[in-house]
Amino acid sequence: MSGTIFIISAPSGSGKSTLTNELRRIVSNLEFSISYTTRPPRGSEQSGREYFFISREEFERMVCENEFLEHAEVFGNYYGTAKCCLREASARGHDLLLDIDVQGASQVKHQAPEAVSIFVLPPSREELERRLRRRAEADDDLQRKLLGDGARLFNTEAIIQRRLQTASHEIENFRQYDYILVNDRLEESIDTLKSVVEAERLKRSCAALSAKDQSVLAAAERALRAPMMRQVETILATFDVSHFPAVTE
Ligand code: ADP
Ligand code: 5GP
Repeated sequence: MSGTIFIISAPSGSGKSTLTNELRRIVSNLEFSISYTTRPPRGSEQSGREYFFISREEFERMVCENEFLEHAEVFGNYYGTAKCCLREASARGHDLLLDIDVQGASQVKHQAPEAVSIFVLPPSREELERRLRRRAEADDDLQRKLLGDGARLFNTEAIIQRRLQTASHEIENFRQYDYILVNDRLEESIDTLKSVVEAERLKRSCAALSAKDQSVLAAAERALRAPMMRQVETILATFDVSHFPAVTE
């Protein structure tokens, strides 16, 4: 396989889609893997753009025919990365960006240990809640505009609470990841993410490093899991993750 797989995971609402959309715009030769899902489209989402929206029957058929590199059930819906997406990016000599959950990330790392994994964290639980509510309100406004008052809404307390609860469990998996990105100031987060992709490309090339390359490598190194441990500990405390062990890394 010629390209590198970049895996990005985060609790829902942390800003992963915002970051990956921008990354795709500013970094060349990086393809975004469009996942298959059985969940209904949200807001302005379109099949073939954000996801391929398919039925449970179709998804199960694809599982039986071994068409997925990984798949998982998230929030009661199936999600999966098709192997063909990886093959096609690879044939074009491009890297592939996977926006997948922690279960999927672990399956991919198992099959492709050289894949680079990045875990995005919100600055705190309070900020995650604010972002989840803001996004749900925006999605609901759009649904009402498109479908009127009978529209299926997303800003229910149950959905927000479920996502917050799931976030507390998901963030405990940060140790599986190579890099940790705290998405506080958006511009800074995008710069860091770009540095990670560029640094990994530099590490895999045999070219001599310029001074600019060295600074890219240094920026990416600061986002490695070990130097991020203290900041992660502070964030986990806001989620009341009580059994977090003492920082030893
Ligand atoms: P995810 O893909 O992780 O579920 P989104 O990218 O949809 O999250 O972002 C959730 C909400 O947070 C959106 O309304 C988005 O505009 C907002 N958001 C993303 N990043 C930031 C940031 N750094 N600061 C403030 N708001 C942000
Ligand atoms: P959402 O429904 O908010 O777009 O995504 C919910 C969760 O599903 C997110 O954590 C997202 O990363 C994850 N997800 C999206 N596509 C895939 C996929 O193909 N495989 C797996 N395992 N998770 C996915």
